[in-house]
Amino acid sequence: MRDFLLLLSTPMVALIFAVTFLVIWRRDQARTENLALGTGWLMLATAMLISQLSPAHMGRALVAITHVPYTIAALGMASGIMLRVGVKPPTKVFLMIGLGGICAMALTQAVGNSIKADLFITNITSGVIMVMTTQSFAMAAKRDPIERFMFVTLVLVTAQFFLRPVFSFMFDGPIAPEAYRESAYYMTLAWLFGFGSVMFGIAQLVTAMKDHIDALKAHNATDELSGLLARGEFELRVKAALNAAANKGTDVSLVVGDIDHFKKVNDIWGHQAGDRAIAGFGAMINETIRGTDIAGRVGGEEFCILVWSADEDISARLAERLRLRTTELDVTDGSLDVRITASFGVAQRVEGENYRSVFARADKALYEAKQGGRNQVRKAVDMSLDEGKKPSITGSSPTKDVAA
Ligand code: GH3
Ligand code: MG
Ligand code: MG
Repeated sequence: MRDFLLLLSTPMVALIFAVTFLVIWRRDQARTENLALGTGWLMLATAMLISQLSPAHMGRALVAITHVPYTIAALGMASGIMLRVGVKPPTKVFLMIGLGGICAMALTQAVGNSIKADLFITNITSGVIMVMTTQSFAMAAKRDPIERFMFVTLVLVTAQFFLRPVFSFMFDGPIAPEAYRESAYYMTLAWLFGFGSVMFGIAQLVTAMKDHIDALKAHNATDELSGLLARGEFELRVKAALNAAANKGTDVSLVVGDIDHFKKVNDIWGHQAGDRAIAGFGAMINETIRGTDIAGRVGGEEFCILVWSADEDISARLAERLRLRTTELDVTDGSLDVRITASFGVAQRVEGENYRSVFARADKALYEAKQGGRNQVRKAVDMSLDEGKKPSITGSSPTKDVAA
C-alpha cells in the first residue's frame, strides 16, 4: 500500500500543477499560456498514471502508449513558456515533430526489438521540443533573477531528456521489456521526473505570480481615464529622474497644464463630456511628448510633464504645442460641440532644487497664466523677473492659490 501511494505521488504532483494552472487560466482567460501549461501538466499526469498503474509485463507497449501523452505534455509546456515571453509557438514545426515521433515509435515497435530504441525516440522527441523552448526563452525573456531561475530549470529539464537514455544505456546493460519498470532507467526516470517536474512547476508558478504582480503594479501605476501615470507613480518616477538629472548635469523642466473652466465643461455638457475631455487631453499629451519624458495626471484636470534634457525655453515651446493642440481637440459627442482650452506653467530645475520646489514654481507660473486670461503658457523665470529678479527660488513654498 505504501509503495503504491509512493508510486502515485509524482502523478499527483503533476495533477496539482495542472489544476493550479487551469484555475489561474479560468480567472484570467486572456493569458492563454496558463491554459497551455495546465494542459501540459494534465497530459504529464496522465502519462505518469498510465505508466505507474499498468501491469509490469506491458514493457515496450507501455513506452509506446505513454509516448503520445508525454509528447503532448512537452508541446503544451513549450507553448505555454513561449506564449508567456511573447513568442508565437511554431505550430507547424511542433506538429511535424509530434507526428514524426509517433511514426518513428510505430516503426520501432513494428520492426525493432529493443526497448532502448523506443525510449530513445520518446526522450528525443520531448528533448527537441524543449531545446526549441529553451532557445526561444533565452532570446525573448527579460534578464532578471526570476527569469534566470526559469532559464536554469529549462536547461536542466532539457538536458535530462538527452542524458537519461545515455546514462541508463551505459550502466544498465540490455533491458528486458518485462523488467522495464524495475530497471535503473525507470528508477532514474521516476526520480528525475519527480524532482525535475516539481522544480519546473515551481519555476512556472513563480513566473506566473511575477506576471500577476507586474500586471497589478501596472494597473495601479496608470490613471485609467487619461492613460497617463497616476499621481503616486508619476511622483516616484519624476523624483528618480530629477536625481538622475542632478547627477548627470542634464537640464530638466516641469510643465504643469490645467484645463480651463473645467467646471463649466461639466456643468454645460455634462460629466461624461468632461471625462472625454480628460481622456482626449491625456492622449494628446502622450502623443506629443518624447519617450524620455514622463507625464502624469496629478489632479482632477491638472497634468504634469517632466521634460527630459530640456531647458525652460525648449519646454515652453513644448507647452505651446500642447496648448495649440488642446484647442484643436475634438471631444464632440453627437450634436454637442465641445471645445476646450488649457493653461500651462513651465519651470526648469535649478541646482539643488527638489521636486516639490520645481513643481511649486511651475504651478505658480500656471496660476499666472490663469490670471493672465487662460489659454496661455507662462515660464517661471518670467515670474521671478517680475518679482524683482530673485537670484534663486530654492526652497520656495508652494503657492496657496493653486493646489500643489
Ligand atoms: P480654471 O480655469 O481656473 O482651472 O477653472 P476650473 O473650473 O477648471 O477649475 P477648478 O479646479 O475650480 O475645477 C475643476 C473641476 O474639475 C472640478 C471637478 O468637478 C472637475 N473634475 C475633477 N476630476 C474630474 C473627472 O475625473 N471627471 C470630470 N468630468 N470632472 C472632474
Ligand atoms: Mg481647470
Ligand atoms: Mg484644477
